[in-house]
Amino acid sequence: MSGNQTNRTWQADLVARFPHLFDTEIHGQIRRPGFPEVGDGWKDLVQLAIERIAVAVSAAPDSLRITQIKSKFATIRIYWWAGPGFTDAMGDAVDEAVELAEARSACTCETCGEPGRLFKHGGWFLTACETYGKGKPVTNHRPEHENVHVTWRVIGATRTVRARHYIRGTDSFVDVDPSSLDLERKTSSWLASAAALAVMKGLLNTMAGTPARIAGRTTSSWPSPLMNWLTTTRSSSPSRKWPTTAPTNPNF
Ligand SMILES: [Zn+2]
Repeated sequence: MSGNQTNRTWQADLVARFPHLFDTEIHGQIRRPGFPEVGDGWKDLVQLAIERIAVAVSAAPDSLRITQIKSKFATIRIYWWAGPGFTDAMGDAVDEAVELAEARSACTCETCGEPGRLFKHGGWFLTACETYGKGKPVTNHRPEHENVHVTWRVIGATRTVRARHYIRGTDSFVDVDPSSLDLERKTSSWLASAAALAVMKGLLNTMAGTPARIAGRTTSSWPSPLMNWLTTTRSSSPSRKWPTTAPTNPNF
């Protein structure tokens, strides 16, 4: 590392370490739409996720770009695009890295990195420890749902659900029987909207002249963050390609 260090942040250092994951050239200029926009407490989990993603795509390092890293409903979101050379096996490994980061963010204070929980402050949610928590801790009425990470996989008309409990101490998942969580009834409306979103994206892509392409994988939060749940919808398509236009992103 060289140059002026005075304005360096961990985010800038991370982006500099993995330029092939972050740098996008637009109109001849290097942009970094994936520049992490989360609190310092999530530094370690973001770094770990990026390191895992770099390993996952090491056979084709130029096949993936991080397009956004942010906090939404008090958990992290990591969005990405895949391009030529990207394989399904890579996709599975990247998904796993992202899901581990999401699950960890749900129980890690975004300010200091200590174990945290969900708080509601006015109309906002945050994941924080007792020191940095604001407003009221959100009580989970179903303790068995605490730190349960639910993954919806929507492939065409087929959908599968996988539920896993996140173990913070080991940064790993343990499978949970989805039928024990009463998921179907509670998620029917959410799933319908997710399916509509996938159809909409396919339609937009078709309108843009690029049929048979769905924009990578879509991560969505549970409609009610009250249960501290995380859900992921994955839309798979036969081929993943770079978008012909830049992804919609306020950072561009
Ligand atoms: Zn804290």
